Amino acid sequence: MNKVISIQIPFHKISDVEFIKNVIQRETGLKFFHYSILKKNIDARTKNIKYSLKILVSDEEISPNKQLFLPKFKSINKTSRVVHIIGAGPAGLFAALQCLEAGLKPIIFEQGKTVKDRRRDLANITKKGIVNPVSNYCFGEGGAGTYSDGKLYTRSDKRGDIVKVLNYLVYFGASPDILTDAHPHIGTNKLPSIIENIRNTIIQNGGEIFFSHQLVDLNLNATKDKIKTIVVRNLSNESLHEIPCEYLILATGHSATPLFLLLHDKKIYLEFKPFAIGVRVEHHQEWIDSIQYHCVNRQDWEYKRSYLPPARYTLVHTSSDFSAYSFCMCPGGIIAPCATDVNEVVTNGWSPSKRNNPFANSGIVVAINQKTLNNTDANPLVGLYYRQAIEQKCFEAGGKNLFAPAQRITDFVKNKTSASLPDCSYRPGVLSVNLSECLPEYIYQSLKRAFIQFDKKMKGFISEQAVVVAPESRTSSPVRIPRYKQTYHHVQIKNLFPCAEGAGYAGGIVSAAIDGMNVAQAISLMSSNSLE
Ligand SMILES: Cc1cc2nc3c(=O)[nH]c(=O)nc-3n(C[C@H](O)[C@H](O)[C@H](O)COP(=O)(O)OP(=O)(O)OC[C@H]3O[C@@H](n4cnc5c(N)ncnc54)[C@H](O)[C@@H]3O)c2cc1C
Repeated sequence: MNKVISIQIPFHKISDVEFIKNVIQRETGLKFFHYSILKKNIDARTKNIKYSLKILVSDEEISPNKQLFLPKFKSINKTSRVVHIIGAGPAGLFAALQCLEAGLKPIIFEQGKTVKDRRRDLANITKKGIVNPVSNYCFGEGGAGTYSDGKLYTRSDKRGDIVKVLNYLVYFGASPDILTDAHPHIGTNKLPSIIENIRNTIIQNGGEIFFSHQLVDLNLNATKDKIKTIVVRNLSNESLHEIPCEYLILATGHSATPLFLLLHDKKIYLEFKPFAIGVRVEHHQEWIDSIQYHCVNRQDWEYKRSYLPPARYTLVHTSSDFSAYSFCMCPGGIIAPCATDVNEVVTNGWSPSKRNNPFANSGIVVAINQKTLNNTDANPLVGLYYRQAIEQKCFEAGGKNLFAPAQRITDFVKNKTSASLPDCSYRPGVLSVNLSECLPEYIYQSLKRAFIQFDKKMKGFISEQAVVVAPESRTSSPVRIPRYKQTYHHVQIKNLFPCAEGAGYAGGIVSAAIDGMNVAQAISLMSSNSLE
């Protein structure tokens, strides 16, 4: 007998096995049973904080080994068809894994460096304010996912197999907790070794990965509906290589500005895509915990935090003329310097697996569409230029040394430069600037109104210790590389497969990985049809 039940228990009973067993007994009427928690979620909407648990109850022992996931790869040999993949982010890596499952040989070209070599470039960013345009927080092995926060929740359940992605991540070294937590999180400290394990598995099973290799050109056939060859530059010696190409997956992420320009230059059809831009807001984590967990004093906070993780929040405000929302909230996190070029400031957030930094930061962003930008001639790159202009303005406002312009949130809503700034996790540092001077009026005014609304929902959101850091500009791609829904190939080029975040078909690690697998499956189908 197997039965799935849902129960709620007081938060302080989460580790009390006897208590949980008693509740199950009461719910099922069973005297002897085994159980396993399938999903765990915190409900802190009221002062009566609870854990909601989805539980598998069985009269047989539930062996964790039964749930072990083992990938099944086909053997790759000289006759295997080759799929070229540009980009070794979550999309490119999971596309490669799916290729191996289908018996296709993946060859990945990644402009950035390996996880290990990338670290030196990250240190140069935080310590010296120097950005390497091909190796940074967004570019390199694992893409933007490697030094990301590693939050794995996604709303993409209709797009593909979330469980398979999570199982793969556990197989590569993530904690099995990600299979049960309602808001799974890996943490920046754990992601690099997982990414290295993915790379080793791809290579051991017949795939190839070339780091410091950048796609710089594409050559089309006479009818301009197929890619004949790709041109790749080996960045370690600047040599160029023209390579015949049967299938090309573009998994280059939303920060690959030169790639968008190349496609546009080649007259490969692109579209404008709605996106969002705003700021990062940082509070003390204890402050956010106190608001979200209804703490009455420090003792109450200490008690609750001994059972509950650092609190998170999700905020949305929509009015007739704008929409603003929280994005990628990082409890116990750090604001990361995510610029991919030397003359821009870009922020995002990460946190270690324990989420034990004293700050909580979140993107608060405003939705941008064609109307906002007055894009009447439907220029596909207008969003890209808009984003670039804001990032460059913030670079200048910060003093051209990668310091980010910042303001106390209390001053932001009063449109007043802050006399001093509170401690902030962003490195290399922050400079006090009136952000209304470096953000477009529409974004500034929308954020101001949103903050006031958020403070009504979360009393204390606007508080003296909270700091606003600009800009948060890489939430999603401002360009779409359009493709057909069924076949996943580009609307004009039959062997080009725009993939994941950069193409406008994913947002986040899991959805990018899912899209990578979907695209590889589509290629597998296309290649088997072409053999018939
Ligand atoms: C600091 C930070 C924190 C984040 N936190 C989270 C989180 O908690 N949860 C979450 O779901 N998402 C998070 N994200 C977003 C997530 O990382 C991305 O959504 C995801 O990585 C997108 O995957 P992708 O494979 O589509 O593209 P990317 O990860 O962007 O990978 C694209 C790769 O393509 C390479 N490339 C680009 N152009 C070329 C070229 N011409 N030639 C060769 N290679 C090229 C790039 O170097 C890059 O490595 C975070 C991102 C950052 C930066």
